[in-house]
Amino acid sequence: MAGTRKPVVEVRRSQRRRRTVSAYRDGERVVVLIPDQFSRAEESEWVDRMLARLAAREGRLARSDAELLARANRLIDLYLTGYAAKAVPASVRWVTNQNGRWGSCTPADRSIRISHRVQEMPDWVIDYVLLHELAHLIVPSHNARFWALVGRYPKSERARGYLEGVAAASCAPLPT
Ligand SMILES: [Zn+2]
Repeated sequence: MAGTRKPVVEVRRSQRRRRTVSAYRDGERVVVLIPDQFSRAEESEWVDRMLARLAAREGRLARSDAELLARANRLIDLYLTGYAAKAVPASVRWVTNQNGRWGSCTPADRSIRISHRVQEMPDWVIDYVLLHELAHLIVPSHNARFWALVGRYPKSERARGYLEGVAAASCAPLPT
């Protein structure tokens, strides 16, 4: 994930700025613009705050449809090797109309949809929901062969527990 490495920060002081602080990424560096009058303590406080904001903004962007497809390809490489031809989806996207399902797939057109409610969950849960749907492209029903495929993902059981907990708390049906 982006944001785990601490970036190189360049602080630029501006006499024109009064209280406003802004930050942007410039290649490997993050440039933070602060008012010239800021003390060293204010500078370090604001640098931390702006880095956190930037990471949050990039985290949201990272969970795009494009990232979801990249994630799907990585999961296929790791856990569905040998099934690539069958498991590669034609499309995979975030949707807001799943009504009680975490994800769904249509084997006929090889499309996968993942609920936006999963978007805020930890990465290892998103991976499980996505792998579950990818496995359905290979085996449509929840039979032993299907669970054997899903079980290749080491955090499957843990993720199912997580989702059941969320479902119980929100009275939503269990994951499909
Ligand atoms: Zn299923």
